[in-house]
Amino acid sequence: MQRYGIITEKNPREIVLLRGSGCKWKKCTFCDYHLDKSPNEEENFLLNKIQLQKVQGLFGRLEVINSGSFCDLDDKTMNFIADVCQARQIDKLHFECHYIHRKLVPPLKERFRDIGVNVIIKTGVETFDINYRENIMKKGFGQASPQQISEFADEVCLLFGLDGQTTESMRTDIKTGLLYFDRVCINLMTPNTTSVKPNNDVKMLFINQVMPCYINNNRVDILLENTDFGIGTENTEEDI
Ligand code: SF4
Repeated sequence: MQRYGIITEKNPREIVLLRGSGCKWKKCTFCDYHLDKSPNEEENFLLNKIQLQKVQGLFGRLEVINSGSFCDLDDKTMNFIADVCQARQIDKLHFECHYIHRKLVPPLKERFRDIGVNVIIKTGVETFDINYRENIMKKGFGQASPQQISEFADEVCLLFGLDGQTTESMRTDIKTGLLYFDRVCINLMTPNTTSVKPNNDVKMLFINQVMPCYINNNRVDILLENTDFGIGTENTEEDI
């Protein structure tokens, strides 16, 4: 598994896939990404350190992803991330966070603000249709509205290519995302070890009828071949 990459075009940044203690939610029906975890903090740190040492500070921007939320990373890894930011002049740092950990975001932002780093939080809302999100995807965001989610998250991921989604529902999700958040990252469902299968008709609807409207939108990232939910092949991505 490649854990370090460079994205050069839209939203240029370096990206590392780190390992933590694992997602504390783990109930999303379509996801097996949470299997990338270990309870051994020292082993996690050693693995993470190797990846973080590859960061060059190319764009002043680093995205840290892991199977879950930033708070699932061990303390030594978090300290090393701060050291790397300072050593490589990184002033924008992206982390992931599930809704259940939203109260940990302000202290995280404050911690990094103290060393001159602006933390940007991405959350995987997948859709703003609450019924679909909570009863089918089991996302664990409760009844949270886009506005309430935007109080802790700066960016959102959407997941398309599933049964029941339509051109209209996908367009509505993207428009809502762009209204309330700085960026929208669209993942297309691909087969994984869960029982949720991609719907190829819905994927073609997205590719033919929705994607052309947003492919050149600088605030929309599109990952066409998501390999394990959470990290896949973006059309501008290298080495992941
Ligand atoms: S999608 Fe994210 S929050 Fe849901 S189970 Fe997977 S890692 Fe956890």
